[in-house]
Amino acid sequence: MDCHCHILPREFVTNLEKFSRLDAYFGLLATTKGSRFVTGEDLLRDMAAYHVDRAVVFGFAFRDTGICRDINDYVAGICRENPGKLVGLGVLDPESPGALEEAERCLELGLSGFGELFPDGHGYSLDSYGFLKLAGIAKDAGVPLLIHVNEQVGHEYPGKGLQGPREAYRFCVRNPDVKVVFAHLGGGLPFFYYMPEVRALENVYYDTAAQPFLYVPGVYRGLKESGALSRVILGTDYPLLGWERYLRDLSKAGLSFDDIDGVISRHGEEVFGEFFETSREGNRKAGQNTVLGEGKGSTEILEQGGFE
Ligand SMILES: [Zn+2]
Repeated sequence: MDCHCHILPREFVTNLEKFSRLDAYFGLLATTKGSRFVTGEDLLRDMAAYHVDRAVVFGFAFRDTGICRDINDYVAGICRENPGKLVGLGVLDPESPGALEEAERCLELGLSGFGELFPDGHGYSLDSYGFLKLAGIAKDAGVPLLIHVNEQVGHEYPGKGLQGPREAYRFCVRNPDVKVVFAHLGGGLPFFYYMPEVRALENVYYDTAAQPFLYVPGVYRGLKESGALSRVILGTDYPLLGWERYLRDLSKAGLSFDDIDGVISRHGEEVFGEFFETSREGNRKAGQNTVLGEGKGSTEILEQGGFE
């Protein structure tokens, strides 16, 4: 199971220049050397070729909620057409006008969470108002957030921002009931699993997106040693990097078959498995839950999150 795949409607893929002008952060990603953009149909073809059974898919978050709406409609549509194979998340900038309404609409469409969210790219933090409201919506609906964070040391690259392990840890401590996946190995948060209070975090997972660009294969051995490997899930950042690249690094790390199976399958099932099952049955968990928006969870989170 690949838990981090970006897809876009064909109109976006064939008009990258136009959409790059409409969102500075998307423009930055689109003009970065080596970046690639594909449709969901492209992904399905590649999944079949590489025998990948399940993928969690989403577009790219734009600041403009109207553009996000078009992307979310497309993602929800292709997931509906491929039950049991694709599960979709909604993209948005939670601080933009109309974004929280869009979040609720995403759940009605059958999307199973929100992500990849770009706090730095869109200029908000993990304790800003709209983000905490979104976290409340996710909590009430029982769906996860997938959040871009990155390491605060090492080489620079486009999209490297200021939200890292410290912010991720603080969010988890304050919001233990929100299920989160921190992309890019949580910006290094799992390396702190030698600290008992970090290892005690609940409801948090880390995906491997862009690992081959950031860390040597031995990183997986380190994560096993620190006790965090059971929270690591395969996310390729498709189409940025292919599955074979991650499998190669996982096996180079000298992990056991069981450990590798955990990363490429079982741990991801813990987060997203239920949504693949419900999508196959055509009976979405998220759609059944109508406690959204101003629900108790949202208020609780805002109080816990604080604005100090
Ligand atoms: Zn990312």
